[in-house]
Amino acid sequence: ARARARERERVRAALRARVREVVALLAAERYGAGVVAHPTAATALARLEAAGAQAIGALNMAEFALGATGHNAAFGDCRNAWQPEFVAGGSSSGSGAAVACGATALSIGSDTGGSVRIPAAANGVLGLKPTYGRVSRYGLVAFASSLDQVGPFATNVADAAELLQVIAGEDPRDSTCLKAPVPNYTAALQQPVAGLKVGIVRECFEAEGLDPEVKASVMAAAAQLEALGCELVDVGCPRFNDGIATYYVIAPSEASANLARYDGVKYGYRAADAAGLAEMTSRSRAEGFGDEVKRRILIGTYALSAGYVDAYYKKAQQVRTLIRRDFDRAFGSVDVLLTPTSPTTAFGFGAHSEDPLAMYLADLLTIPANMAGLPAISLPCGFDGAGLPIGVQLITGVLQEERLLQVAWNYEQAARVMEKRPVAALVP
Ligand code: GLN
Repeated sequence: ARARARERERVRAALRARVREVVALLAAERYGAGVVAHPTAATALARLEAAGAQAIGALNMAEFALGATGHNAAFGDCRNAWQPEFVAGGSSSGSGAAVACGATALSIGSDTGGSVRIPAAANGVLGLKPTYGRVSRYGLVAFASSLDQVGPFATNVADAAELLQVIAGEDPRDSTCLKAPVPNYTAALQQPVAGLKVGIVRECFEAEGLDPEVKASVMAAAAQLEALGCELVDVGCPRFNDGIATYYVIAPSEASANLARYDGVKYGYRAADAAGLAEMTSRSRAEGFGDEVKRRILIGTYALSAGYVDAYYKKAQQVRTLIRRDFDRAFGSVDVLLTPTSPTTAFGFGAHSEDPLAMYLADLLTIPANMAGLPAISLPCGFDGAGLPIGVQLITGVLQEERLLQVAWNYEQAARVMEKRPVAALVP
């Protein structure tokens, strides 16, 4: 009994240390690079507080949400809740890790190309990106305005549904927020899924760099749905894997425009002792932004410049339309699409620090849903040989969150993935 008590105390001490690590930013006014006094209270947060939720702090994330590894030049790295020598995924790294290790039951994040689903998958929790415009973006620091969407993190589908219920719905302060009525998400969960058609997106399973362990685990999740009475349908989305190239034109373009407001004048970091306005602006931006942010601003400014906007930004928008049409066609014959969330499990720390392109590929399978504005969820479906969680992604049509949550809930109840989890001292 004494040995057991000692072991429990050791785990608790480790958990406390982890909580301190992930809840690193207790000042809610701190964002991205440097200290930013945020002028507004986000609608999603205000609604959660009005519903009785208590905010316990701000969590670490990639600087300005640009990144997929949880590296933050200003605040340090966020570590994986299962294995600290691996990354937590990004950009909402702290949200994934904090929910996984029990520091908080629920969290939120924003998903522009996968930033809710990727850290959810990396940390073995659930992450939901709602339909574009389902949740108000008011008060959210803008990254790519045509892609950003706020979504929940939770340890189970029912909690995610409840959180979405609170934050979803019209907001007069965000003109892109949809006026559509909010259904009762919890009521939809327990409807049986027998007879639903699940599309297995062929291109995802043929994608270069797809880890065989990830593939096997996600196919087993599909088989589980089949056992529940779903019909598995082979579906082609020929433009699916073009999402990433399209994204890395559109997202940096919009980011370069959005980040122009950090000029050292109104808010954000300001360089000390500048001689004049021009020097203050250029030094504030040079000193305040990290490497990844600068890289995106350079790419975006280039893609939007007069001589290139037709060749890059406009072209990318045209490909985006083709991606959306692929989805429209697919949803003509199936109810939900199934893919892996990411081609691999979490990277080791530093594995891609010198290679941004390798990091960008982590979002290969999450980006298409942002391109088409569709709701998508990542939930745990297994573990790899190293004991790291694997995520399966489900996607439905616009405003079909009820269907998405229903399929996810039925899968979760049948698969009971966490009952087979490997031992991890930091994940309760
Ligand atoms: N990892 C992607 C990027 O680096 C997506 C980030 C996000 O969704 N905020 O842009």
